[in-house]
Amino acid sequence: MRIDVVSIFPEYLAPLELSLIGKARQDGLLELNVHDLRTFTTDKHRTVDDTPYGGGAGMVMKPEPWAQALESIAKSGMTPEDGAAKKPVLIVPSPAGERFNQALAYELADEEQLVFACGRYEGIDERVIEWAAGHFTVRPMSLGDYVLNGGEVAVLAMVEAIGRLLPGVVGNPESLVEESHSDGLLEYPVYTKPSSWRDREVPAILLSGNHGKIAQWRRHEQFRRTAARRPDLLAEFDAGGLTRADKAAFGELGYDVVDGRLRLRPEAGSAD
Ligand code: SAM
Repeated sequence: MRIDVVSIFPEYLAPLELSLIGKARQDGLLELNVHDLRTFTTDKHRTVDDTPYGGGAGMVMKPEPWAQALESIAKSGMTPEDGAAKKPVLIVPSPAGERFNQALAYELADEEQLVFACGRYEGIDERVIEWAAGHFTVRPMSLGDYVLNGGEVAVLAMVEAIGRLLPGVVGNPESLVEESHSDGLLEYPVYTKPSSWRDREVPAILLSGNHGKIAQWRRHEQFRRTAARRPDLLAEFDAGGLTRADKAAFGELGYDVVDGRLRLRPEAGSAD
């Protein structure tokens, strides 16, 4: 995969040289280029922003440097002759975008090229987003329902979430399978040595060596934790594949399976 990031603070992206993503870059599993938007300006002050039409607070990012930057990336990008079958995806971080989640991370990990346009101030002139659709598949994306100062932090999070799904990046691909959000549930609690610490014991089942019972305990802990912390996920959960034991565990948490979906009994309270 190739990733290009455009920002007025390229140094902000330095953490992408570290840890698993940094190693993936060194190993050639991921090509990642960071571009300084100001190098695409033409005036001596390297101006990237101006006052908003219609008035109001703050500044807006000017369209010209963005068009220059994105055009240059589109030209240098992978062409169909290089093996790229479709337009690169342009991700525009924005609190007004589609909410980024694990399913989107998996979807984007299948792309050949991603380009991230980091906004600052009040954001990028809207015409850039419309114009860019000629070169890219444009996806405005939000990290969550809060406002950051710029797109860089969102890019760090999204690149890490996407990059770790690329083949070979995480040493043991099994560790991706049982994670929170991989199957619509949160992960079960995890423990390591010592088995007794400050008067707190590791659950006995994990020391039993009975792998079937451990797997079932973990699964039911996923149910319990998701019901307690993120009941919204259970409303979306596909309950069609639940075993009888799973349904009984959900029953204890106050949930019935109705038409393949989990339904909280009206009289049931919080599970934690
Ligand atoms: N005026 C914009 C609004 O209300 O939608 C917010 C602009 S914000 C101060 C500046 C930049 O930070 C945005 O252009 C975007 O790149 C980034 N940003 C802020 N919050 C974000 C979020 N929740 N997810 C992704 N990017 C965000």
